[in-house]
Amino acid sequence: MTLIRADLHVHTTFSDDSSITPKTLVERLMAHNFIKVAAVTDHDTVAGCGVTRQLASAYPDILIIPGVEISTQQGDIVILGTEELPPKPWTVEGILDFARENGAVSVVAHPYREWGMGDLAKNYKFDAVEVYNGASPSASNKAAQDLAKLMGLPGVAGSDAHQSSELCTVYTEIQAGLDVDEILTALKKGLVKVPPFAGRSIHF
Ligand SMILES: [Zn+2]
Repeated sequence: MTLIRADLHVHTTFSDDSSITPKTLVERLMAHNFIKVAAVTDHDTVAGCGVTRQLASAYPDILIIPGVEISTQQGDIVILGTEELPPKPWTVEGILDFARENGAVSVVAHPYREWGMGDLAKNYKFDAVEVYNGASPSASNKAAQDLAKLMGLPGVAGSDAHQSSELCTVYTEIQAGLDVDEILTALKKGLVKVPPFAGRSIHF
């Protein structure tokens, strides 16, 4: 079985608060020893996905998963595997329906950090929980791991990088090849593992 390692939560300059250009992300994956996949999950926009995928397409051993991190009244939701935004208004139910209908994967983003959904996530049918977020304190990540167990959902991890030094500090191991559809299917089936990470300092 092929195994890939992916940083599933990255912000590019298409997010107002990130300094990581699509080029920087692609170059980091090119240079990295074992993380060859990243998801572009900008705040409320998918504008950076196409640009980044286009740049990455020149290199056959790396892969960009298109995605988005959507702000809702209840908390942030990451959708993996979409190059389109869900229709507004952005309700949790509406976003999850959109993900399901489009074969995308819905993730409760950093549930126990600021902008996280917390226990409310239990009321909805998500595909996965972000159990390790690189920009969250370890207590928040621990609580997220407990939530994933309680909800019976796979756990995923991402750096939530907003500057280049944070890229690929956190990753998910996925039993899939270098292919977006294979990765999304594996995520839904729970063929994932999040290694134990040492905590890192919080960047905001
Ligand atoms: Zn984020």
